[in-house]
Amino acid sequence: MKSVKPVEGVTPKVEKTDAQWRAELSPDEYAVLRQAGTEPAWVGKYTDTKTVGVYKCRACDTELFRSETKFDSHCGWPSFFSPLAGDKVILREDRTMGMRRVEVLCATCHSHLGHVFEGEGYNNPTDQRYCINSISLTMEPDER
Ligand SMILES: [Zn+2]
Repeated sequence: MKSVKPVEGVTPKVEKTDAQWRAELSPDEYAVLRQAGTEPAWVGKYTDTKTVGVYKCRACDTELFRSETKFDSHCGWPSFFSPLAGDKVILREDRTMGMRRVEVLCATCHSHLGHVFEGEGYNNPTDQRYCINSISLTMEPDER
């Protein structure tokens, strides 16, 4: 069974055994967060969410993205043009599936979040698209 490759030379701040992750996450969450799977397009809970608030890592609760950087990418997954801060995520090359992509991991627990694409011509401030699986996130609306 494949699993998320360890990040070389970096120990995650939140570190758990595979058995612990399996116990804490649902099978679908585990398959994406810990095995770098991808949820099908358009089925994710947050694809079209416009609610104002913060998106946290579903595995470790670290705040990763804000609704202000979410945009309509029409790609079927929640898309952000920037993380909350650069050090919230780890980016690394991913050559699986016959493609050259950049994988996005939670910097705190090293769980798989999705991929980031650049220069696609989206009309946003960074020209980047953090294409993140809904199931990797927990959205928390701001208090009003
Ligand atoms: Zn995390």
